[in-house]
Amino acid sequence: MTEQILPGATLGVLGSGQLGRMFAIAARRLGYRIHVYSPDSGSPAGQVADREFSSPYDDLDSLSEFARSVDVVTFEFENVPSAVTDCIERSAPVHPSGRVLGIAQNRLVEKSTLQKLGLPVPGFRSVRSASELNEAVIQLGMPCVIKTATFGYDGKGQSIIRATDECALTWQQLNTAEAIVEEFVPFEYEISVIGVRNRQGQFTHYGPFRNTHTNHILDVTVSPAGLNETTKNAAVEITRTIFEQFDVVGVLCVEMFVTTDGQVLINELAPRPHNSGHLTIDAHKCCQFEQQVRSICGLPIGSSEQIAPAAMANLLGNLWDPPPEWSRLMERPGVQLHLYGKAAARPGRKMGHLTVLDETTELAVAQVRAARSSLHT
Ligand code: AMP
Repeated sequence: MTEQILPGATLGVLGSGQLGRMFAIAARRLGYRIHVYSPDSGSPAGQVADREFSSPYDDLDSLSEFARSVDVVTFEFENVPSAVTDCIERSAPVHPSGRVLGIAQNRLVEKSTLQKLGLPVPGFRSVRSASELNEAVIQLGMPCVIKTATFGYDGKGQSIIRATDECALTWQQLNTAEAIVEEFVPFEYEISVIGVRNRQGQFTHYGPFRNTHTNHILDVTVSPAGLNETTKNAAVEITRTIFEQFDVVGVLCVEMFVTTDGQVLINELAPRPHNSGHLTIDAHKCCQFEQQVRSICGLPIGSSEQIAPAAMANLLGNLWDPPPEWSRLMERPGVQLHLYGKAAARPGRKMGHLTVLDETTELAVAQVRAARSSLHT
């Protein structure tokens, strides 16, 4: 029988942003102790942890000390070198594994691995120079999207190419050794499914959620997404297959496009809780963060049942100038405010989010948008 890590044990988190903070809050409620590791101090997760290790990711001595101080490690920031997970795995189990992390860290590895499994991805090519880019663009057709193979998120390190004469400059500006070029997907919706699987193989999922982005950053999520049964089932089956094939333990989000002709194509994997799942804290019986705790500890996973239709709106740093008027928001019953404890507000920085539950998603989304607007009216 798989050994269970029970309340009272210490859970380690790599990365110390809002995802780590909400994980730590869920874990503390269940009586666990939390150690976080990142180069920062006074971080969103560090503020609610028992211990905050503030050292660079390449400080293997500090990492070993961190690993020895915990019973299991998970992460909220996946762009850590494989040397980090190798080092930690010598002292404590890491979930999801370094292998899953390695796949999700590199868009080319990710897309080719998914394609080999027969899972649907947009057409893509690997490019290492301006001339290879030129060739790929001709093969794929325009417009197409170029993304750095590594370290890209929220639209960073990517651009759209509409004509071959843009290739030279785009390649120069991307300033990378390797990139992926994808056909531009004329999507009708962007959706996500968040899966959870424990060390014994028990699986559940949330969503599909429907997501809208502004400037490549998630803006609003609604659930249920209003998709037909075929599309919904296709998205969930893709997620289940990924969990089984990669032997994922923990929480992982699959971001997908739904095209106008009903095709579901995978955009990317996030091997951790996801921004689109923040509404699970208020709208589901057991949230994505508690599931992260349960799954990595080998405990039975909780119910992912949704209590009511819900909408979530992100609060980005842009809203901090002038400072938000929180009392306006608090006058509105049913609006759940979550703030991440970040001191400095920068444009595009995720500072918090709002969730509203209502009888329909239309009502919930209208309320959540109105609540956000009320911060400055
Ligand atoms: P990503 O960093 O890959 O999640 O991309 C950020 C956003 O860019 C996505 O949420 C989409 O809105 C858009 N995008 C990315 N790849 C494509 C694509 N192949 N076709 C159309 N839009 C895309």
